[in-house]
Amino acid sequence: MADRLPRKAGKVEKSPARKSFRRPTPKSPLLAKDARNGASSLPRGKLFLSDKVGYFTESVIREMTRQAMLYGAVNLAQGFPDFSAPAEIKDAARQAIAADVNQYAITWGAKNLRNAIARQMGVWQGITVDPEKEITVCCGSTEAMISTLLAVCNAGDEVVIFEPFYENYGPDSVLSGAKPKFVKLRPLTTDGGEWMFDEKELRRAFHKHTKAIIVNTPNNPTGKVFRRAELELIRDLCVEFNVLAITDEIYEHILFDGTEHISMVTLDGMRERTVTINGMSKTYSVTGWRVGWAVAPEKITNAIRKVHDFLTVGAPAPLQEAGAAALSLPPEYYAKLAEGYRARRDHLMPSLTAAGFKCFRPSGAYYVMTDISAFGYKDDISFAKYLVQEIGVATVPGSSFYHDPRDGARQVRFAFCKKTQTLDDAARRLAKLRVASTR
Ligand code: PLP
Repeated sequence: MADRLPRKAGKVEKSPARKSFRRPTPKSPLLAKDARNGASSLPRGKLFLSDKVGYFTESVIREMTRQAMLYGAVNLAQGFPDFSAPAEIKDAARQAIAADVNQYAITWGAKNLRNAIARQMGVWQGITVDPEKEITVCCGSTEAMISTLLAVCNAGDEVVIFEPFYENYGPDSVLSGAKPKFVKLRPLTTDGGEWMFDEKELRRAFHKHTKAIIVNTPNNPTGKVFRRAELELIRDLCVEFNVLAITDEIYEHILFDGTEHISMVTLDGMRERTVTINGMSKTYSVTGWRVGWAVAPEKITNAIRKVHDFLTVGAPAPLQEAGAAALSLPPEYYAKLAEGYRARRDHLMPSLTAAGFKCFRPSGAYYVMTDISAFGYKDDISFAKYLVQEIGVATVPGSSFYHDPRDGARQVRFAFCKKTQTLDDAARRLAKLRVASTR
């Protein structure tokens, strides 16, 4: 598992896009039964599979959900709520199906939903967006991200990614032929510190082959909410090196302790060089609906729409109508959402600390990254395996958020988008853990 993402440069490489990747090892401790590419059983020279798929493995996060089910563990791994979605939007979905909104929507998105997105971009960001020319509705923000990267990247282009990073960005880069260039976010202190990047390191990552930078704020897995000064610095580099910012703002409304979400597109000079990605999954607790979108200047939107059309044709039509209803929920909805997650964060963190984890306090999103040094395990994989199999709690091993697994070997991530009783159940199980000195 540890080697699932594009790694360091191999020696003999054929295409520029491959230069910084090393093939993953065929097996991982948690994915031991995986067939992987099955290369050994196939005749040499004809493996049937694309080389690309050899450069990454299945999602570790989603694998952890399967592990949780296998071992009857409490799933604090994958970021999906175990509580209900708002009744109003479920009703809107039912009504759309009953009203026979059951055929393909316009490929780049149902008009009602695009109008609602444009309206909300105006309300939340103060940005005027043309719903006819600047919005593409996709199958989740996941598809919006890969469609964007496929639409803008050529082989050999570099994409700057802050790490630890949401694991999809690694495979997304490989699939789009781009080379990821990682810039570290580091916690200021080992206990509770905010994650920051080094300005010089970021500047070094930009050069003439840099096509884009991915900015995920509020951030998964760190919970960092990028500050204005940080975004301005990124903006200055984007302008200087003529680079596109692709933002993942899926946790836009999940903010704590008075932090403010700032959309890159609102900064001077960024309107023409930003693709803003968002979706329904997290804001409306409907991760299974698969509705997300990319907002971009017309020329880039045209390219994204072409890729999106041939990849998926469109997102689910009735759920797009329900999306329009969701985006019309009153402001109190969003305040309640953030407050609910603040309460869950504050409910979970003391039990993690009591069990021996050092927690990095998130300012947004719904994850807590933790330091597991106190438990004395060889690495995050063996510890996560022990947690899911013996303690009964599924987490995500930290290494899955880094291109070099060693960087995440002392970390695991907990998701707190769960009912209080689920968090309590996890806390009871984690109380059985013993730190190394007391074992
Ligand atoms: N982006 C980030 C940062 C995420 O954490 C996730 C899901 O966990 C996604 C995107 C996936 O979003 P969607 O369900 O809209 O595809």
